Amino acid sequence: MIRLTTATTLQNAIAKARTVKPFVRVNCFGSYTVTNRKTGATYTVTCEKRDGERFADCSCNAGTRGQACYHVAAAAGAHIVIAAERATTTASNC
Ligand SMILES: [Zn+2]
Repeated sequence: MIRLTTATTLQNAIAKARTVKPFVRVNCFGSYTVTNRKTGATYTVTCEKRDGERFADCSCNAGTRGQACYHVAAAAGAHIVIAAERATTTASNC
């Protein structure tokens, strides 16, 4: 479980995501499949809000150790956009 606090927590991960440019597929709100286009490695990232704090989980080695990885950074970017859209629509969870 990775606690998403400030932007600095994800700074390195975001920088890596910008370099790697992984493909993010939305499974449903809060669940994403992140694929490294080069290696084809695929990981599942989940995002959730608990007690007003944001948490994320990733199935990769770093993510399972609670380290912010670029998969989380990439998925969090998509998650924020979707969350903003959901605020104005009535889209439901899957
Ligand atoms: Zn990861």
